[in-house]
Amino acid sequence: MHTYPHPPFKIGGGHISRGYSASHRAKDITHRNDAPDTVYAIESGEVSDVQRGQQHGDDNPNMVIVRDSQGFLTVYGHVDPSVHAGDRVSQGDQIGTADLSGTSDGIHVHLVRLKAGEGTVDDVLDRQNSAENFQINLAAW
Ligand SMILES: [Zn+2]
Repeated sequence: MHTYPHPPFKIGGGHISRGYSASHRAKDITHRNDAPDTVYAIESGEVSDVQRGQQHGDDNPNMVIVRDSQGFLTVYGHVDPSVHAGDRVSQGDQIGTADLSGTSDGIHVHLVRLKAGEGTVDDVLDRQNSAENFQINLAAW
């Protein structure tokens, strides 16, 4: 199990609003306070792809996908990207703004960790509910 040391929301940290299960292979992170919805990278890496332009109720959310030094992918769902494919991001850098795109009824980041792959939006959507999707551990924020 991989531990992320940094929260996606800087102000107020963040808390888990929905855990990992067979039907939800991700963790949902909500900010603790009425903090700005700015989202920060929880790990360094290279942006492998982003998805923009999705609205609330669309099949898929906006997202940012970051490949770390080991090739693993971290996917930030319901995040309107402020970065582009090929950008290098460091832990703590701003990567976007949380929104209600896709299936979401409250501001949160849908956090997914995947084995190394293409890192494209299509690749992630194909694999997001597969056994290649890892349980994520979060340091105490
Ligand atoms: Zn979720």
